[in-house]
Amino acid sequence: MKRKPKFGQNFLVDDAARYAIVDALGDPGKRTIIEIGPGHGAITEVLAGRCHRLIALELDYSLAAELTFRFRDQPQVQIVQGDVLKTDLRTLVPEGETVDVIGNLPYYITSDILLQLFAAGSAGLVHRAVVMMQREVADRVSAAPGVRDYGLLSATAQMNAQVENLFTLPPSAFSPPPEVYSTVLRLHFAPRFTELGVEPAGFNSFLRQCFAQKRKTLQNNLRAAGYSPIQLSEAWPSSIPVQARAESLTLEPMAELYRSLSRTGVFAASVPTQ
Ligand code: SAM
Repeated sequence: MKRKPKFGQNFLVDDAARYAIVDALGDPGKRTIIEIGPGHGAITEVLAGRCHRLIALELDYSLAAELTFRFRDQPQVQIVQGDVLKTDLRTLVPEGETVDVIGNLPYYITSDILLQLFAAGSAGLVHRAVVMMQREVADRVSAAPGVRDYGLLSATAQMNAQVENLFTLPPSAFSPPPEVYSTVLRLHFAPRFTELGVEPAGFNSFLRQCFAQKRKTLQNNLRAAGYSPIQLSEAWPSSIPVQARAESLTLEPMAELYRSLSRTGVFAASVPTQ
């Protein structure tokens, strides 16, 4: 049996790809960039000469030490040893400064990192991110309603960002090669909560309830979450078919339903948040 590399360490060895990933950030000349998981510096090296400031956050002590030594004469590059999921990204930059994010993400924690980035986007800290992940996850993040891959991750991502699916790399672009293909996404953070008239924590929790079980209709998922049939029929907007599944709906009717349930007063009172 093949052992999975420690910390998701599949290093990028395709030279054209590392330039294409950095190019996807646009002109970072005046920007501060946070790189997640620089590894041996495949992306770091290209970006270091282009951006105003680069802060690279690496969990692995020996890799962080290697990079600190390698970039010792480039003061615009700061290597931070630490776990991205335990790091408040705001503390890495002076107050009021915004950043872009880049990274060939460690695949074992991709969803958690995305959730962290959505929160940082909502807080106005992160403008844009160019991130590589397992192709199947990228397909889910960028899927449109009604297609097979659309689900909670897609809805959550698209509440927070405009998502562009840029390109896909084969396992041979990495060493050691992973068992999966990898896709690069560009995210422009533009949270839609205010525009859709919903409050972030409540709506995120509502989305989790709506998508709880893929096979169930939206109504059945909401009943399982604690709404009564009467509450649902009183609040149900005419724009949503009674038998609809959450996977088939765009964010506008989902937000309409949430607002309608909130207005009837049943939302906060009877629905447990997860
Ligand atoms: N950027 C390099 C490249 O493209 O070759 C390495 C990418 S590799 C897929 C993922 C990197 O993330 C590894 O260097 C790994 O040590 C690092 N990493 C894993 N978990 C991490 C975490 N929780 N916080 C920060 N870095 C992490």
